[in-house]
Amino acid sequence: MRRFLKAVSNELNQVGGQLQQQAGGGFGNYGPPQPPPPGSGFGGFGFPQPAAAPASAVPCPRKQPQIGFTDWIGLPDPRFGAFNVCPSCYNSVIRPTPYANAFVTKAAPPNVPIRCDMSRYWVKMAGLVLMTMNQDGRYDISLLARVAGVNGGECPNAQLTSEMQPLAVVAQPPWGWYTIIGNPIPGWTVCASCVWHIQTCLPAIANGFAPVQLPGQASCALVPSDHYDDARTAEMLRYVATCAVASAQLGRVEMSQLVSWLRQNPPRQRGGAVGHPSSSSMGGYQQQQQPQSNGLCPRNHPSTTLRCHTMQGLFDFTVCEQCYADVIRPDTDQGVALARQFEPNPAAIPSGFTCQLYSDRMRRVWREATSTGDVQYLRQKVSERRAKERELQMKTTQLQQQAAQLRQQAEVQQHLAANAMRVSANAASTNSMLAGVGVIHQVDAFHYTVPNGVPDFSQTTQLNNQATMLKVQAAQAECQIAMAEEEWKRYWE
Ligand SMILES: [Zn+2]
Ligand SMILES: [Zn+2]
Ligand SMILES: [Zn+2]
Repeated sequence: MRRFLKAVSNELNQVGGQLQQQAGGGFGNYGPPQPPPPGSGFGGFGFPQPAAAPASAVPCPRKQPQIGFTDWIGLPDPRFGAFNVCPSCYNSVIRPTPYANAFVTKAAPPNVPIRCDMSRYWVKMAGLVLMTMNQDGRYDISLLARVAGVNGGECPNAQLTSEMQPLAVVAQPPWGWYTIIGNPIPGWTVCASCVWHIQTCLPAIANGFAPVQLPGQASCALVPSDHYDDARTAEMLRYVATCAVASAQLGRVEMSQLVSWLRQNPPRQRGGAVGHPSSSSMGGYQQQQQPQSNGLCPRNHPSTTLRCHTMQGLFDFTVCEQCYADVIRPDTDQGVALARQFEPNPAAIPSGFTCQLYSDRMRRVWREATSTGDVQYLRQKVSERRAKERELQMKTTQLQQQAAQLRQQAEVQQHLAANAMRVSANAASTNSMLAGVGVIHQVDAFHYTVPNGVPDFSQTTQLNNQATMLKVQAAQAECQIAMAEEEWKRYWE
């Protein structure tokens, strides 16, 4: 197991190294998607941005299906005949990219309502994948059309209009629920529509999700809303993309970065409203099933407020009230000698305590010790576990700080990149205007080029590459946390 963990860690380090060598070349980098530079021509391509980020510069005027327009733009391949882009989105979103020439004006459509596909949430995400995760050319422009054509019904949250609204709770979305394979997070369920779109965008993690049957009502953890940018969804998708990068490099599905982030960032109450958080607003199962949901066992998170029982002669063996009631008291009642060494009155410990008796493993150790009366065996197991627990706490704290610092540095680089992008785009659009182009009705002239009208994004690219590298390093640190936690769970908990 240790060898395996080490190998993974080495491989990830190599990924980081390769990225370092690539930095400065190519557009963007193969790494976690970059947020759209505010106000730039790629605005509409981006992941929905957290909080205060400005919306896409040009909102799509054809988000609702409409009849009568004859100026739709699409792809020449007849397989993607149903893919339609309005001239406004073409000009603001696609024209500034290397994919501009892949589009053609379409023949007048039949008299049916048509919606602009570039206004769809997942198509925007596919655009971001193309722009930031395609150094090796594994995707082509058909990705947009394929994602637009995913037929998974609509996410129950697609029509939410703000973070003030609770997630939509449904008995069953059109095609069922999914969770992360092998490592499900209690309460983290995603509807089939969202999963199928993610699988199309990022085939490297297509096998990272598994269908799950839920007993009651639930909600999708993602909010792919056409009406506003959901910050938590954007954050989760950033980790989804990080997992796709790791999976592509390792040649197998690797979801640990997302799992680790979700573990450390349980859903907040939506809207910040005062009152009782209803489970529907927290995302996931209606029945919240945190193991410590009774609030009595702190497990391995030190608590200064809960109370614990200690054992005479083995003070490291701290047991919370809940686990005492479950395990020790019945033994005391039956006159088990070791159980009688426990202090029956619980007390809080000002420096904090962790519970040493919640896991199956330690309950087995306790059984063994009571059946043989071997206090020495118990002492040894408890002290081994304590040492590992301290090691894990120190390691995760250190890695968390490291990851936070790296992410902070990445944000600074991205901010600089966004500024550089704005400057280049402004310069280019000034040049374009001087050359007398850039007006919407000229959109069907696809093949002209304008000297100096093409923005020079090399500085932006370099800064974005640096940001990507920092984020990959942060993801590596988070991956190490996840691996340390896995090791703890497997061997020591
Ligand atoms: Zn549009
Ligand atoms: Zn969904
Ligand atoms: Zn406990």
